[in-house]
Amino acid sequence: MRKFILFLVAILFFVCNFNFAYADQKIRVGLESQFKVAESAKIANKKIYLGFDEKFSDYPFEAKNNFIVSVNKKFYVSTNKKFDSYQNALSAKNNYVKDGYKSVVCAQKNAWSVYVGEFDNLDEAKKLNSIIGGSIICPQEKHLVIYDGDVSFIIFEDNSLCPQFKSDEFIKLNDREYRGIIEFGFYDTNKIMAVNILSLNEYLYGTVPSEMPASWPQEALKAQAVACRTYTLTKLKSHKYYDVCDLTHCQVYLGVKNESQTVNKLIHETKNICIYYNDKLIDAVFFSSSGGVTENAENVWSNSVEYLKSKVELNEQNPKIWTREFKSSQLKQLLAENKIDIGDVLGVEILEYAPSDRVNKISIIGTNGQKVLAKEEIRSFFAKSKGGSLESRMFTVTNKIPDSLDEDNSKNLDCTIIFQGRGWGHAVGMSQYGAKGMAQMGFKFDDILKYYYTGVQVK
Ligand SMILES: [Zn+2]
Repeated sequence: MRKFILFLVAILFFVCNFNFAYADQKIRVGLESQFKVAESAKIANKKIYLGFDEKFSDYPFEAKNNFIVSVNKKFYVSTNKKFDSYQNALSAKNNYVKDGYKSVVCAQKNAWSVYVGEFDNLDEAKKLNSIIGGSIICPQEKHLVIYDGDVSFIIFEDNSLCPQFKSDEFIKLNDREYRGIIEFGFYDTNKIMAVNILSLNEYLYGTVPSEMPASWPQEALKAQAVACRTYTLTKLKSHKYYDVCDLTHCQVYLGVKNESQTVNKLIHETKNICIYYNDKLIDAVFFSSSGGVTENAENVWSNSVEYLKSKVELNEQNPKIWTREFKSSQLKQLLAENKIDIGDVLGVEILEYAPSDRVNKISIIGTNGQKVLAKEEIRSFFAKSKGGSLESRMFTVTNKIPDSLDEDNSKNLDCTIIFQGRGWGHAVGMSQYGAKGMAQMGFKFDDILKYYYTGVQVK
């Protein structure tokens, strides 16, 4: 009987904590905004712990200056002797230094060794090799080196070894600071790439305030935190060597730069909460402001989604009001960039509305045909214009023909096409300005989420 009760308690514990892992789940963020094509990286911490596969040295490595991680461009002679600890390799290295040779400790898989010399050309390396015996290491072998200032400190023999750094403080990488671990590697390129490994909640500390100002009502911020968490969990493994990148492709992430104590606390308060439909994580898309009513997914993208349905805003705060003006010659240029030729542009006509009054189809009319744009294509068509994509699809169009025409009425027909609209973003899922308004009315974060995502569970 006692065993049975223990079994029941264990089951209960498991059920209550089945999503416990979310808060502590590790996430790999590719720092593409700073790296991907970098030759070197600077770590300004004076003291770091070095590791592989999240197993770290229990002693710190200390730099006199900064740690610089760089691609190896020198020739060395490998002594081919293996050591079981960094300290033993270091004392062997120091013996070579005493003998007058530049030398560096080398990290291998499960061992340490020493590289002697540090030459700009092969001949000098060959000369040393004939004296001490070993094998010549050439720079094109994609090795990473850690420098202390300009003195080489540790070299990594195998390019599949991705060194990781952690610190007792934030890691100061180039001009940004990061929580957790920083990993360097070549992955599939010849350039250095850095990956930040941290818990999902720590990642949210960085992303949520980039999505919503920390000064907004707490229940709106909590709704945003839960939406961001759910969104991130459905985007894991979006890249080959990391889960997400730090660009708009995934979510903008600047490390600890945008963090706010208030938002961190709210993320912690909602730490294991996500949004589900039929017990599956939802695609928790969100946007800035709808201009009065949100949109069905199928009117924006291709497929209909049960929980992404149009909702009338209850208290949307100051939806963005916007005006964009284009000369017909500018539209002709944009069409040309998309390899479309319909002659001179005469104007734009709205062909179809979605039930929400959002424009669903427009035609750009030319002297030699027309180009029809549908759904989100209507916004993205303008991506390469000065102001970027159209703010929203809640707009009217006015075609203004110039007052004076040329004598033959055929030239200089550069009319002005004016779009006047409201709202900002794709309009599917949670509206951030709408969530702000609902929070001000007294709605709790889970009610806000259940309003914008139809038929979901927040748990
Ligand atoms: Zn990405």
